[in-house]
Amino acid sequence: MKQINCPHCDQGLQAYQHNDIDIEYCPSCKGVVLDEGELDPVAIETAGSIEYSTFASPTIVTENKQTISCPKCPTLTPMQKVGFLGDQTIVLDHCDACGVIWLDYQELEQINTKMTQLNQSSTTSPLSVRILNAMVYFGLYSV
Ligand SMILES: [Zn+2]
Ligand SMILES: [Zn+2]
Repeated sequence: MKQINCPHCDQGLQAYQHNDIDIEYCPSCKGVVLDEGELDPVAIETAGSIEYSTFASPTIVTENKQTISCPKCPTLTPMQKVGFLGDQTIVLDHCDACGVIWLDYQELEQINTKMTQLNQSSTTSPLSVRILNAMVYFGLYSV
């Protein structure tokens, strides 16, 4: 397997297992890279796809954080800042070219905290609405 370097530290990433998924992480800054489709299985179990919901109607955020290059693309590809579930509070880096997501240290915990809060609110929570909208958008559900 090709050596993948951290987009922040330029240091070799190491693999670990989380919920039976192989994840590469940076031992220095503790960021993680998730392949397309890996966010759902590592986050708290939720009806629908939070990954689809996040990228179906992406909120592009201009954060006071530097743009990083995708660690998996063979050529330097800038990643986009995307608000998790269209929110501005949790900002993920997403590669449009290969679909990987970069999570900075503790962003997975922030996602899971948010998911726990949303799962505890009513059935008409913004989360359900957003996931439904995303499924309609992708033709997975018709109203
Ligand atoms: Zn790093
Ligand atoms: Zn990429």
